[in-house]
Amino acid sequence: MARAARIDDERLAALDRYDILDTPQEEGFDRITRLTRRILDVPMSTIALIDGHRQWFKSRSGVEACETPRGPALCNLAMHEPCALVVPDARADARFSDNPFVLGSPHIRFYAGVPLRTPQGHSIGTLCAMDTRPRHLPDADVEILADLSHIVMSELELRRVAMTDALTGTLSRRAFRDECGRSLSLALRHRHPLSCIMLDLDHFKAVNDGHGHPVGDRVLAEIATACRTELRASDVFGRLGGEEFAVLLPHTDLASAMTVAGKLRAAIARVGVPVPGGLLRVTASFGVAVLDPAAADLDALLENADAALYAAKAEGRDRCVAWRPVPRPQQAVRRRVLKAGRIAFDDGRPVVDCTIRSLSDEGAGLSVSGTAGLPETFTLAIPADGASRACRIALRTDGHLDVVFV
Ligand code: GH3
Ligand code: MG
Ligand code: MG
Repeated sequence: MARAARIDDERLAALDRYDILDTPQEEGFDRITRLTRRILDVPMSTIALIDGHRQWFKSRSGVEACETPRGPALCNLAMHEPCALVVPDARADARFSDNPFVLGSPHIRFYAGVPLRTPQGHSIGTLCAMDTRPRHLPDADVEILADLSHIVMSELELRRVAMTDALTGTLSRRAFRDECGRSLSLALRHRHPLSCIMLDLDHFKAVNDGHGHPVGDRVLAEIATACRTELRASDVFGRLGGEEFAVLLPHTDLASAMTVAGKLRAAIARVGVPVPGGLLRVTASFGVAVLDPAAADLDALLENADAALYAAKAEGRDRCVAWRPVPRPQQAVRRRVLKAGRIAFDDGRPVVDCTIRSLSDEGAGLSVSGTAGLPETFTLAIPADGASRACRIALRTDGHLDVVFV
């Protein structure tokens, strides 16, 4: 069992390298399912990718759903076959007669699926042909299906190698991570700061719903162009997912990265895509984080930027939020001051003069000529403020006292 889970993990890692799940439909893949239908004369064909919990269709021809649960998926079995899984009549097959996709929609009777295998031998899904009627599939047709599955894999390999997101011209998620790895090593070796900005368009679903997917695509492309003009050549700009982008900024501390995020926000706000009735405008939310050299880890940096982005969304969107380290117990900030003070003990006598150099509601930093002979507790008078505070020494060094007010 553990071994099977491990193999499935490797398989999922192989699938992840293609960066393909939840990407929009693409003609290159749709052509293959159309061809499959035509050549095999079936009403349904899909390119199914088997994720951890679901089968997701990169292309579907004659099939409504864009994903289904993994468990009952026939493709989940077919992908482990050496060549193909061919089921002439699912209702007459004990393995599938009570399968929900056989009993209910899409009412599969005939099924033929061939694995989609990576060059390293991991099976990531299937190309399949289905019919609502039972049928026999000649061996020659199984071979055609296998050939078409190789075309699917070549297409996937080409995409992976290209590494550039075709719509926006930014790096794909995989390429972005690879580039980030290199920038991270450089930043650590040369001890320069490294920051990350993550941004996600606000209410983008409404853009697609209201104006159609092609307009959404145009918005994405124009926003990427607008951002690029604000970035330096050394910045790494990638599309992490649908309408989510990230920028890695070498030689940039948190404050400067916040400035860059502000510029990106302004640049996005200036983008206007013509739609009937005017210009369509969008906003984005930004999360910004700086690399913590103590935990120099790319995932931590991206997670922190993501957490800040989440906060930006929660605080109302269209804003930049900087990641803050885990909240530490509130420590009162001391103001730098320069005041004369008087230290009194033993009922007011003797009195030692001091200079108050820092002050908060909770304590003070004092300069004194000598600390010897001072008791652990005393009263500090601050004549300029007309105030007097009971103190306990927290730190005693040569000529300096740190006290807390008690
Ligand atoms: P939020 O402010 O919370 O981020 O809301 P949202 O609507 O942007 O968030 P959600 O993640 O629910 O929706 C993202 C949408 O982006 C859904 C999806 O249709 C759309 N999308 C993802 N990739 C593409 C693409 O390549 N082109 C187009 N046109 N739309 C895309
Ligand atoms: Mg969004
Ligand atoms: Mg999103």
